[in-house]
Amino acid sequence: MFDSLSEGLQSAFKSLRGKGKLTEGNMREGLDIVQRSLLEADVSYPVVQEFMGHVNERAMGKKVLLSLRPEEELVRIVHSELVSILGPVDPSIHLKKEGPTIIMLCGLQGSGKTTTCGKLSQLLKEQNITPTLVAADLQRPAAIEQLKVVGEQVGVPVYTEPDNKNPVEVCKNGVAKAKADGSRVVILDTAGRLAIDEELMGELQRIDNKVGPDQVYLVVDGMTGQDAVNSADAFNKALELDGVIMTKLDGDARGGALLSVKHVTGVPIKFIGTGEHLDALEPFRPEGMAGRILQ
Ligand code: GDP
Repeated sequence: MFDSLSEGLQSAFKSLRGKGKLTEGNMREGLDIVQRSLLEADVSYPVVQEFMGHVNERAMGKKVLLSLRPEEELVRIVHSELVSILGPVDPSIHLKKEGPTIIMLCGLQGSGKTTTCGKLSQLLKEQNITPTLVAADLQRPAAIEQLKVVGEQVGVPVYTEPDNKNPVEVCKNGVAKAKADGSRVVILDTAGRLAIDEELMGELQRIDNKVGPDQVYLVVDGMTGQDAVNSADAFNKALELDGVIMTKLDGDARGGALLSVKHVTGVPIKFIGTGEHLDALEPFRPEGMAGRILQ
């Protein structure tokens, strides 16, 4: 586990070790390093404060200072706290025994919803399930075409009604068609906006109420840091979320926003997007992410 932390943090801890026995004083120094690292990773301040509160409590216990390798014990505590906040792990898509399971993807425009529809379809196809995609993003003119292309790439049907401006009707009709075709899964690709607004939330709430998705996943862009947290908070207040998918974690982002998003929503992080290709979706693993956040 010690190895899973990045060089920077490891060498910082090693320098503490170089000062001889870890004392309460240099333990604080170590905790400061951890705090700085979390803030640099884009974890929001209140979350960092709460997190450090827990770590402090555990680290300042006599057991740590008396342990054979106190600095490793400190790393172990930080790591296990991170893993416990980021968990529990639940990367499976829960399917109903009968009738199609309806999955609704929501999120801001550009967060990666349409791409993620394709990625989830690919994942389901690997389990011999062919989902139906429903093009319910009627805000962006190109969105329907984009979903069609994605559907063709993966080889799954895409339900569209280009002339219907009512997303609730499109979703309902899409679900009815999927049912008639015997699809086990329907994925609704809903509209986003550049920023949260009442109209967007109203539209999503109407779909939620009238179509009754079994699972609502929020798609958030991991590159947007604090904005990801604010939008997650707003979506979580408007809809009952079942999971979060964070995209664009193939870039430089250290993924600290994930910790904050998990903290504000309280729902499991299901998957992470690690590229534009349709196979770039990974089940979320808190252990790996904890190491990445603590760079
Ligand atoms: P939507 O507006 O929410 O439907 O977002 P799109 O699915 O159209 O995605 C917006 C942009 O982000 C596109 O250029 C995608 O190729 C890109 N994208 C989506 N997911 C990822 C990801 O995990 N990594 C990277 N690098 N790009 C992504």
